[in-house]
Amino acid sequence: MSPCPCGSNLSFIKCCKPFLTSKDLPKTAEQLMRSRYSAYSRANINYIIATQTDKAAEGFNATEAKQWALAAKWLGLKVLKTEAGQEPDQTGKVEFVATYKLNGTIQQIHELSEFKKIAGKWMYVAGLVNS
Ligand SMILES: [Zn+2]
Repeated sequence: MSPCPCGSNLSFIKCCKPFLTSKDLPKTAEQLMRSRYSAYSRANINYIIATQTDKAAEGFNATEAKQWALAAKWLGLKVLKTEAGQEPDQTGKVEFVATYKLNGTIQQIHELSEFKKIAGKWMYVAGLVNS
C-alpha cells in the first residue's frame, strides 16, 4: 500500500486517488485541499485546473505549474486549521503548510485557502499566503 501523499495516514487508493481519477468528489473543503496537494505531488495539473475558479484560476499558467510540480520534491502537508467546509456548507477555509524541496532548498507554503461549492463540487477560490 502506498501511503497517500497528503499525509492522511490512509493509503492513496483509499484517500486522494478516487478524487484525482474523477471516481469520487471530495465531500469537504479539506479533502479537496488535500487532493490538490496530492495532485501537485504527482504533477497532475489537469486536476488542479478542474478544481479551481475565480481568483485562483485567473492568470494560472499550466505549463509553469507543471514544471514547478515536477521539479519540486513534495515532502508533506500539514493541515493547521479548518473553518466550515463540511458536507452541508457552501464555503470553507483551510489553513495549511506544504513543504517541498526545490533546487536543494526546503521551502514551505503557508496558506489560508478559501473554497466554495459550485453545483455540489468543492472548488478552490483563493489563497492568502503567510510567510
Ligand atoms: Zn490523500
